[in-house]
Amino acid sequence: MDIHEYQAKEVLARFGVASPEGALAYSPEQAAYRARELGGEKWVVKAQIHAGGRGKAGGVKLCNSDREIEEACEKMFGRKLVTHQTGPEGKGVYRVYVETAVPIDREIYLGLVLDRTSQRVMIVASGEGGMEIEDISANEPGSIVRATVEPAVGLQEFQCRQIAFKLGIEAGLVQQFVRTLQGCYRAFTELDATMVEINPLVVTGDNRILALDAKMTFDDNAMFRHPAVAELRDKSQEDPRESRAADRGLNYVGLDGNIGCIVNGAGLAMATMDMIKLAGGEPANFLDIGGGATPERVAKAFRLVMSDKKVQAILVNIFAGINRCDWVAEGVVQALREVEVDVPVIVRLAGTNVEEGQKILARSGLPIIRATNLSEAAERAVKAWQSDVARGIKVRVAT
Ligand code: ADP
Ligand code: MG
Repeated sequence: MDIHEYQAKEVLARFGVASPEGALAYSPEQAAYRARELGGEKWVVKAQIHAGGRGKAGGVKLCNSDREIEEACEKMFGRKLVTHQTGPEGKGVYRVYVETAVPIDREIYLGLVLDRTSQRVMIVASGEGGMEIEDISANEPGSIVRATVEPAVGLQEFQCRQIAFKLGIEAGLVQQFVRTLQGCYRAFTELDATMVEINPLVVTGDNRILALDAKMTFDDNAMFRHPAVAELRDKSQEDPRESRAADRGLNYVGLDGNIGCIVNGAGLAMATMDMIKLAGGEPANFLDIGGGATPERVAKAFRLVMSDKKVQAILVNIFAGINRCDWVAEGVVQALREVEVDVPVIVRLAGTNVEEGQKILARSGLPIIRATNLSEAAERAVKAWQSDVARGIKVRVAT
């Protein structure tokens, strides 16, 4: 789960990470009012979207007056901001953050990520802040400093000082840097984050170390134990297909192809997507209905997959261990009776109660295409979809 910049700054502030004073606004007038409340003469208006690269895309504007703030906001509110991180559809701007503009002496990149290879939290820093980390590693790879944290002892002060020295932080500022870095690490571990990125972390003209930007991503599976963080979710920034699925307790990832997948287990979902590709098709989604799926749950999954207009065939692939094929079959039949499914449906069942499952499908009299193994299922799904396209029933949507 991602959160907005202003939210990440609020979260990090509780862990001792300083950022410029700022305030949130939902309209241009409110933004100007908030700037007056903040005081000062220069402000930065920042579009709040779940993506970086806003500066280059017109989502971060330096303003010197009320009028400039309102004008900058008029250009942002209600629009889709397209940055190199949003994809071509962009992300809607419904809130802006008004922040005191600070004099910048130098910009630093600071990131904390979960490094799967070392199974540790890794700190990545560079004196070349302001650029995206991908550009830093392409253009200035030598400037990148890395350190991993031993989980048993946590991030040590000496490690933070080492990083500070490598970045060339002035001696008088090292203590502030250490506090900032340790705050980020504590926020990361205590709140089950998977990423904290401050780009740029700046040294100001008046010798303060401030987070000018902040990005945090959290582990969805841990959000049940952090209700205060879970509340920060902003569905306007998510793929609507994925947020609908999350609301229904289904594990769903939207993709760009035409063949909808309803599968149990993440591993089987990955294998199914591979087989669809091998057979010449493109999956429209990754949907894991999990173990112990009831007919209702299967029907929900159908509704969700059918709500994606790109879907032109549905492949149900169940390997039932904890699940029961008869329940899944009932779910399929129920879904086909209740939900308008005007695309070919291919079902492959294996495992617990498979005979009963097959009987339920056969008895239903519904035009379900059955398959006995995964490769056959994928081939039949792709073939059914291709023949629909060939007969002109379906127009192939760009994948
Ligand atoms: P993004 O990464 O989405 O482009 P940032 O928050 O990093 O957005 O802002 C882009 C740039 O704008 C920063 O690198 C910094 O130079 C400048 N900037 C952002 N906030 C401030 C601020 N409060 N005062 C001065 N400059 C700022
Ligand atoms: Mg940034």
